[in-house]
Amino acid sequence: MEILYIFVLIFTVLILAYNRAPLLIAMAIMVGLTVAWTELRHLFYVPSWFRFANGIVAVTLMGFSIKPLRRLLISDRLFGWFRKGLPHLSDTEQEAVDAGTVWWDAEIFSGRPRWKILLKMPPPRLSEKEQAFLDGPVEELCRMLDDWEICDTHRKLPEEIWDFIRENRMLGMIIPESYGGLEFSAQARSAVGLKLSSRNLTAAISVLMANSLGPSELLLHYGSEEQKKHYLPRLASGEEIPCFALTSPAAGSDAASMTDLGIVCKGPYQGKEVLGLKVSWNKRFITLAPVATVLGLAFKVRDPDGLLGKDVELGISCALIPTHTPGVQIGRRHMPVGAVFQNGPTQGEDVFIPMNWLIGGQERIGQGWRMAMQCRAAGRAISLPAAGAAGGKMAALMSGAYARIRKQFDQPIGNFEGIQEPLARIGGRTYRMDSARLLTLVALDQGERPAVLSAIVKHQLTEGSRQCINDAMDIHGGKGIITGPGNYLARAYQATPISITVEGSNILTRSLIIFGQGAIRAHPWLLKEMQAARDPRPQARKNFDKAFFSHVGHIISNLVRSLLLGLSTSLATKPPLRGPTARYFRQLNRMSAAFSFTSDLVLILLGGKFKFREKLSGRLADALIHLYLCSAVLKRYEDDGRPEEDMPLVRWAMDDSLYIIQESLKGVLDNFPTPAIGRLIRWIVFPLGSPYHPPSDQVGKEVAQLLLSENASRDRLVSGVYISDEDDASGRVHRAFSLVLKSEKAENAIRNALKEPVTFENYQELVQKAVESGVITEEQATMVRLAQQASHAVIDVDDFPRSAIEGPEEPPLHPAASSGQM
Ligand SMILES: Cc1cc2nc3c(=O)[nH]c(=O)nc-3n(C[C@H](O)[C@H](O)[C@H](O)COP(=O)(O)OP(=O)(O)OC[C@H]3O[C@@H](n4cnc5c(N)ncnc54)[C@H](O)[C@@H]3O)c2cc1C
Repeated sequence: MEILYIFVLIFTVLILAYNRAPLLIAMAIMVGLTVAWTELRHLFYVPSWFRFANGIVAVTLMGFSIKPLRRLLISDRLFGWFRKGLPHLSDTEQEAVDAGTVWWDAEIFSGRPRWKILLKMPPPRLSEKEQAFLDGPVEELCRMLDDWEICDTHRKLPEEIWDFIRENRMLGMIIPESYGGLEFSAQARSAVGLKLSSRNLTAAISVLMANSLGPSELLLHYGSEEQKKHYLPRLASGEEIPCFALTSPAAGSDAASMTDLGIVCKGPYQGKEVLGLKVSWNKRFITLAPVATVLGLAFKVRDPDGLLGKDVELGISCALIPTHTPGVQIGRRHMPVGAVFQNGPTQGEDVFIPMNWLIGGQERIGQGWRMAMQCRAAGRAISLPAAGAAGGKMAALMSGAYARIRKQFDQPIGNFEGIQEPLARIGGRTYRMDSARLLTLVALDQGERPAVLSAIVKHQLTEGSRQCINDAMDIHGGKGIITGPGNYLARAYQATPISITVEGSNILTRSLIIFGQGAIRAHPWLLKEMQAARDPRPQARKNFDKAFFSHVGHIISNLVRSLLLGLSTSLATKPPLRGPTARYFRQLNRMSAAFSFTSDLVLILLGGKFKFREKLSGRLADALIHLYLCSAVLKRYEDDGRPEEDMPLVRWAMDDSLYIIQESLKGVLDNFPTPAIGRLIRWIVFPLGSPYHPPSDQVGKEVAQLLLSENASRDRLVSGVYISDEDDASGRVHRAFSLVLKSEKAENAIRNALKEPVTFENYQELVQKAVESGVITEEQATMVRLAQQASHAVIDVDDFPRSAIEGPEEPPLHPAASSGQM
């Protein structure tokens, strides 16, 4: 009986915490219950200790509800301590943290995601005009692009390709129609980037660069009307080619530490003396710089003579400088690995520019960093993720086909479990990557600038693409290694580090930005506490008190949720819908609470020192990343109409992600700053051990089979890439794949009847025999012959005369001459 009462008390407290009952309601319930137990003791046995314990909880909650009391006893005392412990953020770090908006990341951090909000989001969609553009000019451009010719022969985009890009206003996708641009949605820009990247990275980067962080975007958001009217129509038509120079040799990832400088002074411009800046810079790695006509330049501004006011250091600012301006050095090229897009350095020494060349004019001096960070908050989700999705999709398409075409030991290599493993990884990862890309674009098209989620998709899609391409290389063996016009993989493999490095290199993004910025921005209370602690006004303590107690409630609730969901193997939570994905929604509810609870305790224990614990931050970033990827996968499955045949992809992606979340959290807890607390939290979060396992062999096999045949799932998975129907490297694979599948039945019939497998060497003879003996029809025989020829063309690799590789042979030295004897 006594145990029952203990249970009732604990259960009541847990239920209140689990459901995040507001403090006043929780207090009212506990007071009400204490009164009820007192009255009910006349009717049945209610032990006095139980009423007392119930009363203690009620009184404690009452104490917490009386704000002056709790401030006096608790929050005012913590206020000073919290203020001191706040990590120091420089102005530029603060601006980077403040950039953009918060979206689904806030739901993940809440520990209790509201799935209905996500499921109600519109599915990704292109307008008719955007779809027509993809099916028309983009498809045509893809057909014109010859990867080998561009990279090996021309080592640049040929002029007719630039002309086509200009004529079709591809450099103006981001620019409104009123300025002569295409005014495409984020979905459309991503779709164009994806299709181009699947054909030729050089063209893709050239187009995407002009449409991402750079002059067009900066002008759109921050330019003066005069600047917009002058530049935007010329940028849209391609008359002006833009580039944006932020990176200096010394200031790489830490771009804000640049030493490029503009001194406020007066100087000559168009025959008059005007107020302006004498700018000196040394930038490198700048995409499109060698062919740019307008240079977007970021530099620090100094006003030593006080021409603008009292302040000397005015901060980072951005200007647009025509590249023909005297003193601008530009035109030399770097050679990025695996692609030949224009990229190079630029320098200038005391180049005078008038004030109105600053983006937004003089009034925007010092706002350059904030402008760049705001643009990057959204832009990062478009260009590189599009290229990453293309990498995954092409790896899936080509590897599946190649593994079906290529035979070893008398069977397609795709039949071997060893090959099915990488195939499954490619399929599952590509599905997951593309889901995240599409979901984030929905946010962008709703006007969000989700800084943390953009960083996640940039990181995950470029990293995922690298993993897919590595797997594809292994599946292709020597075919992937030997370069030449027939190789459709090696260039993507070589170029992979580019997207890993640019727009925030991945190690930095994972270790420092994703969780670091997420914890501050997306956490429901941390930012409010920090803002209150930094606020010098008297009401700051009041605001801190509110945020602090809400934060405490948040932690308690997540503790309880983690424990209850762990003990009930997530059955205590209700999924938002029924069906094959219901169990995954449940698991995500559990892991979201576990992630949120663990993050809070790490942040509390480490305080300001957290910034330097990148290994912990990186692991928490992994958990956050995969919670987001999982949300995107479940949303995509619904948006696609719940196709049953896609379930292997969903299962692979979800099982893999849940396992990564679990291992990441375990990694944090095993390396917790206070090991005993780490062990305790581990017990709370994983009370019954580790529930998640990597995708099973069976799921992997099912995913691999989707890639090894033609089916609707595969079509959905690779949708958006360019499918060549020409006699080129990828076109030959598509043709051979289709023929091999069509001739499979006939080949099997020949093998069974004639007891010999069909090979490149014997197919003419065997097919003839099979027709003569009535095993196959003449029509089937044609199919088998075509399939064998097409497969042979795919298996072939390029070879060259030695002189083509080594250059013309040097005439041999005369032996006597070489030995010095005459
Ligand atoms: C092909 C190409 C095109 C580019 N295009 C442009 C452009 O158009 N405009 C432009 O302004 N810039 C451009 N960049 C610059 C790019 O965006 C990166 O900012 C720059 O390459 C980073 O500097 P870095 O390469 O010297 O690397 P470093 O900054 O030296 O970094 C080296 C490694 O250290 C890691 N690292 C650095 N700091 C930390 C940290 N605190 N914690 C953990 N890891 C850390 C990085 O992640 C990286 O892995 C381009 C770069 C390349 C290669």
